[in-house]
Amino acid sequence: MRYLAPAFEAACPGTELRYADALGAPERIDAAVCWYPPPGLLATLPRLRLVQSLAAGIDHLPAGEARRAPLLCRIVDPTMAGGMAAYVAWAVIHRQRAMDAYLASAAAGRWQEEPIVPPARHRVGIAGLGTLGEACARALLALGYAVRGWSRTPRPAAPAQVECFHGAAGLDAFLSGCDTLVCLLPLTEQTRGFLCAEVFARLPRGAHVVNVGRGAHLDEDALLAALATGQLGAATLDAFVQEPLPAGHPFWHHPRIVVTPHVATRTDAAVIARQTLDNLALARRGLRPPAAVDPAQGY
Ligand code: NDP
Repeated sequence: MRYLAPAFEAACPGTELRYADALGAPERIDAAVCWYPPPGLLATLPRLRLVQSLAAGIDHLPAGEARRAPLLCRIVDPTMAGGMAAYVAWAVIHRQRAMDAYLASAAAGRWQEEPIVPPARHRVGIAGLGTLGEACARALLALGYAVRGWSRTPRPAAPAQVECFHGAAGLDAFLSGCDTLVCLLPLTEQTRGFLCAEVFARLPRGAHVVNVGRGAHLDEDALLAALATGQLGAATLDAFVQEPLPAGHPFWHHPRIVVTPHVATRTDAAVIARQTLDNLALARRGLRPPAAVDPAQGY
């Protein structure tokens, strides 16, 4: 957390920062900037106006305490969205353009072409068509991919070329047209374990799964089983139930799984500082910031 100090100083010189191990007088604290805060800590701050998540999600906050805060905000950051779009575009291209095969051929000094499927014939489905999902959709559309998205509620403002589905009723139709399925859902009670055997069975045979949501979205055993039968062709994984992924985990050396260490995108410290201060200023005026989270929905 101490890495944020220069960013707060630059955004608002003189901002008084306290850290969890040396809070000082708790009644002086207006805002808590959190990434896994010590359990019980938030409840000890009587004047708290704002709980600011350090991330796009809030699943790392203790549910009861954070959700009882007068105002709970997440980070909504265009730079983070650009980073996520770049990662997802890389994952899609890597698989769809058979880059694993080219890397193996190059390592063997072999000049060998692989079949080329035009992007328009590769359908990418994004589960979670929110801030990050929509940025990914725009990047993939610009590259010529056929893009579909799935959300909880209708998304009338999504780009017109995105084929949109929503809710439980739209899930089967959505999944049936995903050559690549990208999980960009928030982690909630409804979405935990979303990437499971039933979902894999509804994808076209040989589909590619990209998990850039949270580790708990994925049933790891179901993924290995679906890869073994060929129902899934490949997986690109950035988030894991246990992080760092333990040595000896079957994902590390699986020939059709690409592992990255939860680096799909990051939020800049300057953005965290600026958004925290802006959100606090709105809270002090009794206004609700656009990045406020609905505690009842969990995202
Ligand atoms: P948003 O809240 O902007 O978007 C969430 C999307 O998921 C919305 O479209 C929402 O639907 C949809 N959704 C939520 N619940 C359901 C449900 N039960 N069924 C179907 N759709 C649902 O979040 P962001 O785009 O900012 O972030 C998404 C997630 O990305 C984060 O929560 C985090 O898990 C992950 N992430 C991963 C990072 C990494 O480096 N790997 C970095 C940053 C974020 P609706 O539009 O109807 O509300």
